[in-house]
Amino acid sequence: MTRVFNFSPGPATLPEPVLRQAAAEMLDWNGSGMSVMEMSHRGKEFISIYDEAQALVRELLGVPANYKVLFMQGGAIGENAIVPMNLLGKSGKADYVVTGDWSKKSLKEARLYGTINTAATGPGTSVPRQSEWKLDPQASYVHICSNETIGGVEFHWTPDTGGVPLVADMSSNIMSRPMDVSKYGLIYAGAQKNMGPSGLTIVIVRDDLLGHALPITPSAFNYQLQADNDSMFNTPPTYAIYIAGLVLKHIKALGGLTAMEAHNKAKAAVLYDFLDESAFYTNPVAREDRSLMNVPFWLKDPSLDDAFLKGAQARGMIQLKGHRSVGGMRASIYNAMPIEGVRALVQYMKEFEAQHA
Ligand SMILES: *Cc1c(COP(=O)(O)O)cnc(C)c1O
Repeated sequence: MTRVFNFSPGPATLPEPVLRQAAAEMLDWNGSGMSVMEMSHRGKEFISIYDEAQALVRELLGVPANYKVLFMQGGAIGENAIVPMNLLGKSGKADYVVTGDWSKKSLKEARLYGTINTAATGPGTSVPRQSEWKLDPQASYVHICSNETIGGVEFHWTPDTGGVPLVADMSSNIMSRPMDVSKYGLIYAGAQKNMGPSGLTIVIVRDDLLGHALPITPSAFNYQLQADNDSMFNTPPTYAIYIAGLVLKHIKALGGLTAMEAHNKAKAAVLYDFLDESAFYTNPVAREDRSLMNVPFWLKDPSLDDAFLKGAQARGMIQLKGHRSVGGMRASIYNAMPIEGVRALVQYMKEFEAQHA
């Protein structure tokens, strides 16, 4: 068996020990005689899996007691609608900060449900400083995307929105480093970048934001109802929760989010340092806003893109093609990407440059 270095933006590479454990437990989880996929979500076996995954999210992120952790479905794109439906009740207005494609998408969807103000728009290569934001004190919340997966632009600071709840789409950088959850009203993230398989969406929401849903909100997407039912108002994505639990346990064993941050910084530095010294490859993102998770880069001559991707594939490095909307290349280097993968990529980039410069 040969495993590739998978630079996919998501669904993305998972820790090999987690996949091995899941394989070993596939037919019989813990002596239950069942696969996790076959268990009732209300049975004692699955409840123990669920409770452990919940506890690990809380422990790793240091989630304060006055926040609920919900395991939902619909992905971050679903949350683009679910968040406004649940939170706009207060004033019908919200502020959105646009730093790239994902936050732009969030804003567009929110406009279906209320009055949405664009508080700031970045150039796509940097995060606008908070002094440039036009915030409305009457807004029900302020929305950001903490890591723009396509543009490779990341918040390395936490905005201060005063009494207005801060909401963040953390799909592509949750669990990559410690985060101060108490500075946010709500955090949401699809699991398939850094936490597990697709199908699971994590929502971390402060208690006082529950119970204000617009009357049109579907019951399965009503945070209050999900919180009252331990995320089991409808059947939760059981297998995805199980795998996410294994991933989180693995992260904990490696030293938690502080260790993840050190690992991720070291990996990103290998790639950015090389990009900085190369005249053959470029990355346009402002240094202080560069993503530790998604590193877009361009070849000076785009006619070489196909040859670059073919050569990478031949060396077992896949999914390096940039998002179709921006072109170029993108290396997604989430928690589970080993530093050896990034070193192999840089080695290949050097050789390719020597051949084609
Ligand atoms: C991947 C991603 C999404 C889309 O998630 P879905 O699971 O497809 O709904 C949204 N926002 C960000 C920041 C992402 O990285």
